Amino acid sequence: MAWFKKVRKPIESGNKESRVPEGLWVKCPSCAQIIYNKDLTASLSVCTKCGHHFRLGASERLRSLFDGDWEEHDAGLKSTDPLHFTDTKPYQKRLETTIAATGMNDAVITATGRINGIDAVVAAMEYSFIGGSMGVVVGEKITRAIESAIDRQLPVIIVSCSGGARMMEGALSLMQMAKISAALARLDRAHLPYISVLTDPTTGGVTASFAMLGDINIAEPKALIGFAGPRVIEQTIRQKLPEGFQRSEFLLDHGMLDMVVDRRELKDVITRLLRFGAKPVARSLAAVAVEAVPGS
Ligand SMILES: [Zn+2]
Repeated sequence: MAWFKKVRKPIESGNKESRVPEGLWVKCPSCAQIIYNKDLTASLSVCTKCGHHFRLGASERLRSLFDGDWEEHDAGLKSTDPLHFTDTKPYQKRLETTIAATGMNDAVITATGRINGIDAVVAAMEYSFIGGSMGVVVGEKITRAIESAIDRQLPVIIVSCSGGARMMEGALSLMQMAKISAALARLDRAHLPYISVLTDPTTGGVTASFAMLGDINIAEPKALIGFAGPRVIEQTIRQKLPEGFQRSEFLLDHGMLDMVVDRRELKDVITRLLRFGAKPVARSLAAVAVEAVPGS
């Protein structure tokens, strides 16, 4: 028997339920401001203090651009796992869990609706669906959206938010780059405008294809936009990369983008561009831009 008896109970571990409900407040990763979740939603997920742009989901993106309801296209398309791919877990399993978690069938929503009274086709990518990666379904949905825009003589807006091609679909996902680019070429021949909106992050095969093909390329502030990651580039060229490399503002300075626009002004900017470039003027924005350059 021990000389002393331990009378004090050990300190309780903190598994008591917190009285503060989860997810009511969000901390801004840029300025550490604590923001009330409802305020953040009201400001389109932009920090009201420092202007940090939080990542926006596909359906919130559509809600921020369209006036009211929209008509969704091809919502039922699902990947069939054509390569029967397995990495840390089978791709089929990964798809099932992601579909259950996000309530979406793949990483893009394509829809037709009105932006300040102008009919338009919008494709918005969803990062939480396997990194917003572009597989066969994303490629097919965006291509069909562009084709329906050509049929109905409507402008196209694609909001990219993607890590690039979907590795689990191998070469099939790379083929989507050519397929979407070809559809955009047909859109251009039909003299319909295409506005590309690049958000954080837009990398890999998405940057290398449709995200950079807009008649006007708009980016959100401080978005990561690039093809290969900075580490890969540093190792390849054996040089230190400059400050702010692969961010929107840097790319704007170096002629890769046309505009950097705050999310809260995005809808109005897009509206102005659509009014400028839409039919009955019947010319693509690119053609107008070329005419605007003296001596060309
Ligand atoms: Zn902030």
